[in-house]
Amino acid sequence: MAVIATGLEGQKGGSGLRHRLQRVGTAVTMSQRIALTVQGAVMEVSPGIRPYDLELTPAHAVACKVDGEVVDLTRPLERAGAVDFLTFDDDEGKRVFRHSSAHLLAQAVKRLWPQARLGTGPALAEGFYYDIWLPEPLQESDLEQIERAMAEIVAEDLVIERVELEREQALALFAERDEPFKLEIIRRLPEAAVISAYRQGDFIDLCTGPHLPSTGWIKSFRLTNVSGAYWRGEETNPMMTRIYGTSFPEPAQLQQFFERQEAAKRRDHRKLGRELDLVSFFDDAPGFPFWHPKGQQLYRVLEGFSRDLQQQNGYQEVSTPWIYRVGLWQRSGHWDHYRDNMFVIDRDDQLMGLKPMNCPGHCLLFGAKTRSYRDLPLRLAEYSPLSRYERSGTLHGLFRVRGFHQDDAHLFVGEEQIGAEMKRVLELVDIVYRAFGMRYDVVFSTRPEDFLGDLSLWQQAESELESVLQRSGLKYRVNPGDGAFYGPKLDFHVIDALDRRWQCATVQLDFQLPVQFDLSYTDQEGKVRRPVIIHRAIMGSIERFLGILIEHYAGAFPLWLAPEQVRVIPITDGQAGYAAAVQGALRERGMRSAIDASNQKLGYKVRAAQLAKVPVMLVVGARDEAQGTVSVRSREVGDLGPRAWPDYLQELVSSAQAPLT
Ligand SMILES: [Zn+2]
Ligand SMILES: [Zn+2]
Repeated sequence: MAVIATGLEGQKGGSGLRHRLQRVGTAVTMSQRIALTVQGAVMEVSPGIRPYDLELTPAHAVACKVDGEVVDLTRPLERAGAVDFLTFDDDEGKRVFRHSSAHLLAQAVKRLWPQARLGTGPALAEGFYYDIWLPEPLQESDLEQIERAMAEIVAEDLVIERVELEREQALALFAERDEPFKLEIIRRLPEAAVISAYRQGDFIDLCTGPHLPSTGWIKSFRLTNVSGAYWRGEETNPMMTRIYGTSFPEPAQLQQFFERQEAAKRRDHRKLGRELDLVSFFDDAPGFPFWHPKGQQLYRVLEGFSRDLQQQNGYQEVSTPWIYRVGLWQRSGHWDHYRDNMFVIDRDDQLMGLKPMNCPGHCLLFGAKTRSYRDLPLRLAEYSPLSRYERSGTLHGLFRVRGFHQDDAHLFVGEEQIGAEMKRVLELVDIVYRAFGMRYDVVFSTRPEDFLGDLSLWQQAESELESVLQRSGLKYRVNPGDGAFYGPKLDFHVIDALDRRWQCATVQLDFQLPVQFDLSYTDQEGKVRRPVIIHRAIMGSIERFLGILIEHYAGAFPLWLAPEQVRVIPITDGQAGYAAAVQGALRERGMRSAIDASNQKLGYKVRAAQLAKVPVMLVVGARDEAQGTVSVRSREVGDLGPRAWPDYLQELVSSAQAPLT
């Protein structure tokens, strides 16, 4: 590590984001200096220096972390410690940027309607909102006016300043400003809480922060919609106007965001699911998809792909019950921790629960036999139906359902097998996601404070997991302390064609369930030992993964996955027999096809196949029949001309193989 003794001079690199914020210099002697580790480099600086003024501050920094705590770039550094910068590309950096945008919005509303009373204004995953009480609720048509006021405040480039307040000071300040909701928040704060507010010009907001250094940084924003929301979500409280918006450092990013949103709307799987005749939902069974023949075909292909892959990798498929007595759920811990998400049946004076997960069933199977080290790793896979109760307001197409299936498996391993087995799991995850052309990254969640089990086992497992991750070359992030109490876990986020991230695979080590089910095996020395369970699903819910795939491909599935791979299109009724023969040959080779025998003109039939996103069309006319050819059209490329039949069939069959299996 480089040791850099730095002064405060020097120009920061030019950037659209940087603005005229003045850098502060202080004259100090060496003896007063503190040691900082800035982005991994050790340096000595004068106490009181602002992170913004450090030599190593990246041009695009929006906030920083001091010893893990996210703070303002302008918060003076008084003690030795580690400083890491956050940019808009970091989730935490985004939150600072978006939350500062919420303050900007609130300031604009106060300028336009001084009688407005402020609620709260958090950042969201893709933007921000602010809840504001107004004598007259706002309309969408008011948004433009607010945006103009926001733009003025951005142009004024007001310095955003943190102020810490005594409780009485805070109460007096917000009483004077007549902000009843802020007063309520202050009164609910614990006695010892540090109360802070952020000031920008004449606007001041009660807030823990952190914030951007000035309003001029919010170069690009848009308000998107308004809705009503009760204060604190309680119906007896006043109704606030909730104003939503989003913001970015650069105008091009904002434009891209809205273009992507439009693209996402066009790809919405609920819309495409209807148009492509794949899936629908009925009020009679909320949250349960109805798969049409083509959708079911798609489902079967996807499930088959997973099944083949797992079989090749030493998994054994089982099928276990979907209704269990409540005693099992008590033993597994689901009754205490997951009951609200379960469908429960009361039958013959017995409570029974529909399974939300397969783990307890697999534990029963493992425990049903005397196990030895020769059985391990035992990899039990299952695709059977699962159900979870989700509130009706949260249901969302295939993305959030009540009835689903997983490409689920539980691996029973010895402690010393964890590393090797995890490596195999990671390889499998890679094969699956690459088959769909999806990039992905990993979040590694480690031991929480209230962990159960043996500390040394945790430490060994975590270090093995980390080294497997390192050797895999995967992009991963550690989430310290965020593991479950029963074991560390890996969450995989796939990145789709629109650059959206979806959490799909979870790989979870479990030291606890084997204890609850008293599972054991005898090792090579004849000693009785406890196995460790690895819970893992790669696609996760197959239903949800299909929803993601529909949007990822915009319904245009690759040949191997398409429910209808080939459409045979006779030009006239005269070729009906030949078309049937072509389809017969396709069927024999396992290709999924349909014949368009309608009376429509050729152009119409081709368009229909194109709209149905069928990858390959085989047009057959009188000349094709006479010469033993098919005229090939591809969905992407268009007309490929006549090809000899059945020679072309072999080509089709080989390009329809599932990738990488
Ligand atoms: Zn704030
Ligand atoms: Zn499980």
